Amino acid sequence: MPATIHGVSASPGIVVGPAHLLFWEVPEVRSRVIPEEEVEAEVTRFHAAVDQALERLRAIRERAEEKAGATEAAIFDVQMAILQDVELRSRVETLIRQSLAAEKAFDLVLLEWREHFGRSTNPMMRERVGDLTDVHIRVVSLLLNLPDHDPLDLEPGANAILVTHDLTPSLTIQLDRRAIAGIATDAGTRTSHVAILARSLGLPAVVGLIDATSKLVTGDRVILDGTNGTLIPRPTAAVLAQFAARAEREKAAQMELAALATAEAVMTDGTRVTLLANVDLPDEAVPAAASGAEGVGLMRTEFLVLNRTGMPSEDEQVEAYTKVAKAFGGYPVVIRTYDLGGDKLPIGGFPEEPNPFLGWRAIRMCLDEPELFKVQLRALLRAAVHGDIRILLPLVVSVEEVRQARFLLQESAAELERRGVPFRADVPLGVMIETPAAAMSADSFVHDVSFFSIGTNDLVQYTLAVDRGNASLVTRFTPLHPAVLRLIARAVDVGRGANLEVSVCGEMASQPLMAYALLGLGIRTLSVAAPGIPVLKRIVRGVNATVAAVAARAALAADTPREAEQLLRQSLADELGEDLLNGLLGLA
Ligand code: PEP
Ligand code: MG
Repeated sequence: MPATIHGVSASPGIVVGPAHLLFWEVPEVRSRVIPEEEVEAEVTRFHAAVDQALERLRAIRERAEEKAGATEAAIFDVQMAILQDVELRSRVETLIRQSLAAEKAFDLVLLEWREHFGRSTNPMMRERVGDLTDVHIRVVSLLLNLPDHDPLDLEPGANAILVTHDLTPSLTIQLDRRAIAGIATDAGTRTSHVAILARSLGLPAVVGLIDATSKLVTGDRVILDGTNGTLIPRPTAAVLAQFAARAEREKAAQMELAALATAEAVMTDGTRVTLLANVDLPDEAVPAAASGAEGVGLMRTEFLVLNRTGMPSEDEQVEAYTKVAKAFGGYPVVIRTYDLGGDKLPIGGFPEEPNPFLGWRAIRMCLDEPELFKVQLRALLRAAVHGDIRILLPLVVSVEEVRQARFLLQESAAELERRGVPFRADVPLGVMIETPAAAMSADSFVHDVSFFSIGTNDLVQYTLAVDRGNASLVTRFTPLHPAVLRLIARAVDVGRGANLEVSVCGEMASQPLMAYALLGLGIRTLSVAAPGIPVLKRIVRGVNATVAAVAARAALAADTPREAEQLLRQSLADELGEDLLNGLLGLA
């Protein structure tokens, strides 16, 4: 049996199934010269490949329309139009007639077009780069006779384990959840967006496997252990039986915890805690509401944008936000304005930046593109008629950004007023505390916002200067670092001192020891992917607020993350008992 491949646990659960390798990257194309007498045949070969790609796109388009509806299927119309473009075809033909092999000719023209579109100042043109890339991959693969790795190829019920180098959020959304049982990637970490999405979909996932794609072939039977972060290729019957037994035990423990859905999240001394769900896609709202969440602490709206040909319209957004608000009845639903950029880009992305995580993203992009931003703000104000919607601004570093956003919010309200459309004007506005700047200067925000939401994924990344998505830095991404704990403590103290609600919606909130530290620091609202709520509730119901505060103070005074972890672990084991703690750590 080949050796176990170790990675990082991104989303718990054990699944067994056939590996499906996905290489959705432009293949390397070597230069090849065609003898003059073969040029005509090469031109014919080129057009035949394009026709074959068109045929394939037609079939995929049909399936996409069935599965996802007409709007999503329209992505493929754009790609078909590119392949039918007379100028593109004749440009490639000219290069072939100059003795270049078809794959190289097509490769060169597509590289040129992608660069040209990517540099355009027109956002619609830039959005086409993703379509050009998809077409580039598809036709070159056909011309090189490479296996077809189409991401939409899997049939429902395939129970496949998707193995790929890196899964972009847009690709993740394209995948049919009914066909995929688990995800394994070479790249990524617990806080990269593929992991976040897998967790909210409740799909077991292991990331940071480094070279799993070179150790497996499509069809290999694998065990994906999302709980421990491993991938076991071609397991023996004995190993399979062992994992099946563990999967059964985990399922039984999960069922037991799920029974807590209707129980109160209250600490042993009576302190009430509010557990909210992070929702990335509107369709997750109904199951999230059933998990016992008392509202939504973070809806990441950028997932509405990814994998589309253009930005969603105001009406489409109203529908999406209303769906979530209605699923949660009268409970609060915090909707974050677009956090696009970093690793979350719409099809085609933005112009390349040397440092995307320090670049033109999130609130910066929205304030610079007020017309785009106001479509979203108007949709939020309109949807707020149907529930307790609150607006959250991402990646804020200065209160000036909040004031500018509020100005645009007021303009949006005035526009709706003029149109005579119903809306709610007094929607609360909050900020993400996810930069050291926002945490350190938390006091400067208190008169301009109604709540703080601490985003620990970015707060850790920016405080420790550790890329949250870099698989080789996972051991250095330490949320229990004293600098991070002190910034959180500061935001909590300032927020509570000003009577603002302070919640945590980053991944720290879903990890038992860290959640315990957050409770000890005075956090009373935690927001996590819905499948993580039962574990969290069990912890809350087993610990005392004063004991947690003592443990958190000790962790704050620790010199190293490891020391803080040991102190928290000891205290939590004293509160819950060693066996229960180990069981919960295994399920988180
Ligand atoms: C965070 O940064 O902690 C957060 C919740 O937002 P995101 O993971 O979407 O960046
Ligand atoms: Mg963030």
